[in-house]
Parts: sequence; C-alpha cells; structure tokens
Amino acid sequence: MMLENQTCVVTGASRGIGRGIAEELGRHGADVVVNYRSSEAAANDVADEIERAGGSAVPVQADVSEVQEVEAMADRVTDIYGRTDVLVNNAGITLDKKFENMTKEDWERVIDVNLGGVYNTTNAFFEDLKTADDGRLINISSVVGQQGNYGQANYATTKSGLFGFTRTLALELASTGSTANCVAPGFVETDMLEEVPERVQQKILDRIPLNRFATVDDVAGIVRFLAGPDSSYMTGQILAVNGGMEW
Ligand code: NAP
Repeated sequence: MMLENQTCVVTGASRGIGRGIAEELGRHGADVVVNYRSSEAAANDVADEIERAGGSAVPVQADVSEVQEVEAMADRVTDIYGRTDVLVNNAGITLDKKFENMTKEDWERVIDVNLGGVYNTTNAFFEDLKTADDGRLINISSVVGQQGNYGQANYATTKSGLFGFTRTLALELASTGSTANCVAPGFVETDMLEEVPERVQQKILDRIPLNRFATVDDVAGIVRFLAGPDSSYMTGQILAVNGGMEW
C-alpha cells in the first residue's frame, strides 16, 4: 500500500493505458480520480473495479482541451479528496495522415488535446503538486516522439514536446521536492493500436526486439514506480518502455 493517502489524478483513464494506470495505482492504495471525456460507462466501470478491490476512486468527466472543464474537475477533486499528490497526463489522441494531406484542423485538434490538455491539467493542479509532500507529475509520451512515425507529424510533435515540458517542469518543481518525469511507451495493445492497419502492425512488430506489443500493465507498473517513494531522487527523466526499440 505504498500509495496510501495519495490522491492520483489520471487523465484519459476510461480505457487503454490510462485505465491500466488507474487500476494499478488503486491496487497500491491511492485514491484515484478516473478522468474521461465521453466514455462515462467505462469510467464508472474502472472506478467500480478499483473500489471492489478495496480502493477508493471517483470518475470525473472533463475534456482536457477545455480549460473550464479542467478547472471544474480540479475543484471537484479538492472537494472530494482535499488535495492532489500525483498527476498523470495520459489523455491523448491521434489523427493520422501524411503531412501533405493534413489540414490545419487535423494539426490543431491533436495539439489542443495532447499539449493544450497537458497545459490545462498541469496548470489546474500545479499549486497542489508544489505543496504536496513528494508531489509527482508524470507525462505519457511515446516512442513516436523520439523516432517520428510516417503519417503522424501532428502526434509526433506533441509527444516530442512533452520531453522539453517535463525537463523544464522538473527544474521548476525541484526546489519543492516534487518531481516530473516522462514515460515513452512503444506500441501498446489498446484501441489506439487497433486503428493501425494490420500490415502496418506487422511491420512495427518486426522492429521490436522483444517481438511483442506492450500490454497496458507493462506501462502501468513503470508509472506506479514513478508515483511511489522509490523514485524520489529521479526527475526530468524519460523512461522508454518499448521492447528494445532504438531511437
Ligand atoms: P486510447 O485507448 O485511445 O484511450 C484514450 C483515453 O484518453 C480514453 O480514456 C479517452 O477518453 C481519453 N481521452 C481522449 N481525448 C480526451 C480528452 N480530450 N479529454 C479527456 N480524455 C480524453 O489511448 P491509449 O492507447 O490508451 O493511449 C493513452 C496515452 O498513451 C496517449 O497519450 C497515447 O498517446 C499514449 N501512447 C499510446 C501508445 C499505444 O500504442 N497505444 C503508445 C505510446 C503512447 P474517452 O474514452 O472518454 O474518449
């Protein structure tokens, strides 16, 4: 129960990696805020699952790209749990197209969610992270932010952007004892990967030395480590969880 009495906010926790992270943090005693945009039933299910296992969780709707919704979420978390110790910026989308076919709208939507959302949530919870005893900011990037990827100029840009953001926030939080780190997963078995055509999935698999896609648990365990006391002297780092892919 290494996360007992810690409030952890996980954005985009109704499905995929976020769900895995929320459940893992809940299993280790955290009070978990299960943020979602539209999948209300799925988010309720995640919170129920955490509570069935003996933890505490609450689903909270907010589109992270909408500043007012994020601020309302932060107020609600304060009302329920009093403060936030750990923020996991996980919510993210793709809108894949070759650059020559990518419209300004395709570009802006991905930037608004994947980077604008990170600004909105970090800003809304920043005072809590500064004043927490050992606060934690954990950003979910991607191997695509390190390597680039065909058809993902918008997405790769947002995921690279998180490296500079994490490093800077690590410096700015350091005097408070709180840390900021980044996890860069490889290709993970979620709805996002389902959208990739099968022949492309096979090409990706051929580039992964461990010869399998990641499970959400492969990523969730690393996030639990970063959220817990064993990582207190690590900050500004990028942890690659990618089956050995080089970059
Ligand atoms: P996913 O299965 O598509 O789930 C996305 C989650 O984000 C859902 O819970 C969704 O909520 C939420 N979300 C989307 N837009 C949102 C918004 N505007 N506001 C709040 N929540 C929003 O995605 P995933 O594969 O788990 O990916 C999670 C994160 O890991 C992303 O940042 C992604 O870039 C990163 N990542 C994924 C992979 C991979 O291979 N899957 C690899 C590396 C990194 P709703 O259900 O309500 O829509």
